[in-house]
Amino acid sequence: MEQRPGPANSEFNALSCSQSYLAQALDLLGLDPMLEAVLQNPYREVAVELPLQRQDGSICTFRGYRVQHSQARGPFKGGLRYHPDMDMDHARALAALMTWKTALVDIPFGGGKGGINCDPRSLSEIELQRLTKSFTRRLDGLLGPDLDIAAPDVGSGPREMAWIYDAFVLGHAHHHGVVTGKPLELGGSAGRIEATGRGVALVTGWAAAREDIDIGRASVAIQGFGNVGEYAARYLREAGATIVAVSDSAGGIYHKDGVAIDALARNRREAKGSRKIRDMEIAGEFISNEELLACDADILIPAALDGAIDESNADSVRARLVVEGANLPVSCAAEKQLRDSGIPVVPDIMANAGGVVVSYLEWLQNRQGRTWTEQQVNSELEAILRAAFDKLVEVAQREALHYRLAAYHIAVQRVASAQQLRGLVC
Ligand code: NAD
Repeated sequence: MEQRPGPANSEFNALSCSQSYLAQALDLLGLDPMLEAVLQNPYREVAVELPLQRQDGSICTFRGYRVQHSQARGPFKGGLRYHPDMDMDHARALAALMTWKTALVDIPFGGGKGGINCDPRSLSEIELQRLTKSFTRRLDGLLGPDLDIAAPDVGSGPREMAWIYDAFVLGHAHHHGVVTGKPLELGGSAGRIEATGRGVALVTGWAAAREDIDIGRASVAIQGFGNVGEYAARYLREAGATIVAVSDSAGGIYHKDGVAIDALARNRREAKGSRKIRDMEIAGEFISNEELLACDADILIPAALDGAIDESNADSVRARLVVEGANLPVSCAAEKQLRDSGIPVVPDIMANAGGVVVSYLEWLQNRQGRTWTEQQVNSELEAILRAAFDKLVEVAQREALHYRLAAYHIAVQRVASAQQLRGLVC
């Protein structure tokens, strides 16, 4: 089982972290108390039991979750996490985050999140397919292209999205838009797999420029070498940066002249994610995840799981800029410590929004029955992220706010206005 990236005995709690970020924005905005209550609480929460007969005949019961936080600005939208630590609180925290993320980048979606408390690597492909389809069937009536749109997250990818699509269309017409992050053959979008990492790299470059860091000469350490971490590394290297450290759940590797990320990615794919970096023959010095956070790099990108940086290790960070590739990787207290040390943090809802933006573009293509080229997708992605980043900087400067508070200020304001116009009578 993978451990969360933070220190072993840390008290990090994703839900209270996301609630405190919202509370800071609400303090600033001074909204009607009823409106605050609507924004603070999910619209709907569902938990389902998922008994599974395994191929050896044994029976296991898993739990599936879907939290629909807000549909004030459009259908619920958010990923499905397959991870042993997945629980209702994670779903609540991450669903709210999706509401603020879609609002910040100004796409017509609300927020949702869910998942299953399983370790996907301990299940066979057929077991995972049964589990995914049974989860989808139990959410019948709650998912749909105009209602709630699923997507990949940690532990799930195009394969799982194809199974969800299949289970959904059995009882409905062919609505490809019920799920995004699908394989291309089933209406997926060019550029979706790379989108979150591409967005992280773009936002990192823009934020670096504001901090007088030349991205073409910068050194970057990335915690987590999964979908987000790998593509962030690739695009940052393309921009000229040197990726000096990367890691997975068992530790990482440091090389001051640059880690061989192509070889790492190849190894990971060949072993379907089961081979750890420390077991690969890659040049460099093996380091722990704690050492990665403290390593000598201009930019640190936590791109694994939540709670990677908290009060106990924030002081060890030596980077000049932290960019949240993962969702909620920095606790509230740690963010304050980092800011007090002069290290700005670019928040998740801006930094990793590239994934949901291209999910939106996939949904648009599905609705139009058209396929865009990768170049069209990438240029639209960049335009949407750039507009959001520029707005964020404008509000941060005008209101004298740090990045996260400025991001929440914009996002919460937008959701609040939409909700207010629709009326508070639910
Ligand atoms: P993934 O499963 O592809 O990769 C996760 C990576 O983190 C793996 O390399 C894993 O080994 C590593 N990891 C796990 N535990 C770790 C630990 N204790 N220390 C260090 N590394 C550890 O997941 P992903 O899709 O890359 O998602 C990563 C983060 O980005 C999550 O917070 C996710 O919610 C967020 N995110 C993902 C997307 C997306 O499109 N995939 C979009 C937005 C946000």
